[in-house]
Amino acid sequence: MSEISSQLKDLKESLPELCTLVAVSKTKPVEDILSAYNTGHRDFGENKVQELTRKAEELPKDIKWHMIGHLQRNKVKYIAPFVHLIHGVDSFKLLKEINKQGRKSDRVIDCLLQVHIAEEDTKFGFDKIELEEILSGKDLKDLAHVCIKGLMGMATFTEDTNQIRREFRLLKSIYEETKNSDHTNVQMNTLSMGMSGDYKIALEEGSNMVRIGSAIFGARNY
Ligand SMILES: *Cc1c(COP(=O)(O)O)cnc(C)c1O
Repeated sequence: MSEISSQLKDLKESLPELCTLVAVSKTKPVEDILSAYNTGHRDFGENKVQELTRKAEELPKDIKWHMIGHLQRNKVKYIAPFVHLIHGVDSFKLLKEINKQGRKSDRVIDCLLQVHIAEEDTKFGFDKIELEEILSGKDLKDLAHVCIKGLMGMATFTEDTNQIRREFRLLKSIYEETKNSDHTNVQMNTLSMGMSGDYKIALEEGSNMVRIGSAIFGARNY
């Protein structure tokens, strides 16, 4: 068994049954993705549109591709025909563009709204008030080609595990407060939080989707 497949197997055995593992394959070659694929794994995450579309063309069509990075509106059209879940929706304008491209592809595109939970300033996302405005606003119901499946967040990159826990706990509480909606295109059941360095804390705080790269594929060399 390859290094990648054994890492993946050990990791999967340690995760709760109802947690989805997104194997983050950014910067890694298609051969590495195939090693994971051949163990039966199907959920893979990429953070760049160009890399995602190239890999999707080369690899088996039953892979569920997760777009986990910051997404520019003018690039939505390249992934709309096939993407499984867009994690980083951080503006209503972006959601409208995803809806438009979803209509063109005759699909309903599943999305997660990104929430800004990190105390550091550099990460994208809505704050709680903006989130509530979108989820309770009347504009959302016109977007029949998107479905909001839940929330995504990234904790501060820090050694301070108490801070990380605090940030994940905040996201979980926002998720609980916002997940019930009257809109038919809001079906919240997914809380995407946790990466290689912090997924154990994220799981303790209620995550049901983790995005893990280096703990499966090894360190990335840029
Ligand atoms: C790269 C990335 C990950 C995975 O990071 P690792 O530390 O390698 O597990 C998860 N989420 C997002 C948004 C990323 O960009």
